[in-house]
Amino acid sequence: MFTGFQIQVPEIAVPLPQSGKTYRIRSLRLGEEASTKSSLFGSALPIVNKLNQLVYQSIMDEDKPSFEDFLRTTSTKDRDALVLGLYQVTYGNEYTMNDYTCSNPQCGQKYSLKTYLSDGLVMERFETGDLMSIKKDIQLEDNLFAVIKQASLEDEVAIMKATDENDKMLDFYLKIDKFKYSDKDNNTLELSLLDKTIDFIVGCNQLLPRHKKLVNTTYAENFGKFGVRVDVAYTCPHCGQDEKFVLDFVKQFFLLVCGLE
Ligand SMILES: [Zn+2]
Repeated sequence: MFTGFQIQVPEIAVPLPQSGKTYRIRSLRLGEEASTKSSLFGSALPIVNKLNQLVYQSIMDEDKPSFEDFLRTTSTKDRDALVLGLYQVTYGNEYTMNDYTCSNPQCGQKYSLKTYLSDGLVMERFETGDLMSIKKDIQLEDNLFAVIKQASLEDEVAIMKATDENDKMLDFYLKIDKFKYSDKDNNTLELSLLDKTIDFIVGCNQLLPRHKKLVNTTYAENFGKFGVRVDVAYTCPHCGQDEKFVLDFVKQFFLLVCGLE
């Protein structure tokens, strides 16, 4: 029985910004690339599921966790690092955006923007252990507290299953682990994202704009700043305009995998 060719599949080590782990991941194979194509044109949850599977099946470490444990112990920002690594090990470090439109309205010409991912890579890593084990309590009202945390992939899937994919609050929900509150009889109760997802969403939507500001600030200071990003700097060959932006490499990854670019 034919069991496949002897092909040397490229691998790289990817340090994660939040959990303190480092995974070895390997390049995608053509069959995996092809099976992704059909999943892009669905709703958001199948895309996220596919992305999580692709990343997980590319991890080569012998002691890698089960898929369920991977979703539980990997943060959404750690997945960003893994997607970037998967991109580099599969397609290389050179990055091309075809038909990039110059942002200078006087020019507006299209050109092919070519850069190197490693040149623009910025990684801020949480150095003292696993950021996902840290929680911050903030008081929203006399009898209402929110516990702020970094979302895991498991949280993301739970929220996406429970709400509409176009829910503009999606990113906000994921910053809160649970609420602690007291009812009329002064009993202390908890409402958690994972255990009571539907009620949790109702609770989030009852909050006030000043609560949101407090949650967002606490999240940004303690969690959100740890991650990877790719800064792109380029000069328009037609007018000399300097372009600077942060590359959405998850989106670009899917565009490339799906052959849309
Ligand atoms: Zn231009």
